[in-house]
Amino acid sequence: MPGSSLFRQAVLALAGNRLISRVVRRFGMRLGAGRFVAAESLEAALVKVREMNSEGLMVTLDYLGENAQDPQLAEEAARMAIRALEKIDESRLNATVSVKLSQLGLKLGYDEALKNLRKVVEAARKHRNFVRIDMEDSSLTEATVRMFERLVEVYGTSHIGIVIQSYLYRSERDVRRLAARGANVRIVKGAYREPDTIAFPDMRDVDANYLKLVRHLLRKRCYTAVATHDEAIIDTVKLFADQEGIERNRFEFQMLYGVAGSLQRRLVDEGYRVRVYTPFGREWYPYFSRRIAERPANMFFVLKSLFRR
Ligand SMILES: Cc1cc2nc3c(=O)[nH]c(=O)nc-3n(C[C@H](O)[C@H](O)[C@H](O)COP(=O)(O)OP(=O)(O)OC[C@H]3O[C@@H](n4cnc5c(N)ncnc54)[C@H](O)[C@@H]3O)c2cc1C
Repeated sequence: MPGSSLFRQAVLALAGNRLISRVVRRFGMRLGAGRFVAAESLEAALVKVREMNSEGLMVTLDYLGENAQDPQLAEEAARMAIRALEKIDESRLNATVSVKLSQLGLKLGYDEALKNLRKVVEAARKHRNFVRIDMEDSSLTEATVRMFERLVEVYGTSHIGIVIQSYLYRSERDVRRLAARGANVRIVKGAYREPDTIAFPDMRDVDANYLKLVRHLLRKRCYTAVATHDEAIIDTVKLFADQEGIERNRFEFQMLYGVAGSLQRRLVDEGYRVRVYTPFGREWYPYFSRRIAERPANMFFVLKSLFRR
């Protein structure tokens, strides 16, 4: 895992623990998750979307949940993504949706997730909107890329996108394959625990690969979502786009809800497209743990909110 530390490993290991997850969830958003999670209900999340839209920020809504253990939960997640697409259309908001294949049933079977994802993509097409498949841990990478490619053959690239993680050695090959299809790709560094047999252990290599992947996509005229809070990377991408004459509507910056708000607004003021990844729902614990693992300082927000009451 890049930037590996005992702290990060421990937090991510605990995120997978179902007992801890249940106990923590009882404290609801009070533990400080409200900093990173917009709301527990779709309706309340839509209010936040409107606020962000009014500041010039676009949004992608993520209904929290992963690793659906039964088909009903997976179908429920697909229904929620579809409802979000309907509401976004009805309320004329500037927002897309993001989904996780494990939430749509990938661990129950490839066909289960494919069936659910198809419904969401159909809804995205009906509402002239877009659904992006988040990338999860490396055990799901191959199936995710394969399912994306299969749906691109049917639906094209206007309504569906994928995420590639720059920490994986395989990602350069994946990006070349996806670029050849004109795919819409979000590049991230990667948020899971991965061994150095498959992922760069050194953060400098993750960053260098990040820029390599973004440059390749932009040169191939693929719409690219540059998802990071790393200002050095953002500045390099801005410069690269200027030098290569890449129009600002060919790419967007993406950041997480609750992170680097002033940077988000500064980029909007400079005329860049910025989208905020905005999670909602009750299953916030694994997502929240990844945010803590990325930045141990976030733990202080949790402790502060505990002592405030
Ligand atoms: C829009 C979006 C979508 C994502 N989707 C996926 C996905 O599908 N799959 C996946 O594996 N990962 C995903 N990620 C997470 C990503 O992989 C990284 O773990 C995360 O973005 C942190 O890395 P960074 O690029 O900001 O760079 P870093 O080098 O980790 O951070 C750069 C700077 O950003 C700030 N920062 C970073 N993280 C935080 C935080 N949590 N809280 C406060 N400040 C922070 C810090 O100031 C830090 O110095 C996504 C990230 C974004 C922004």
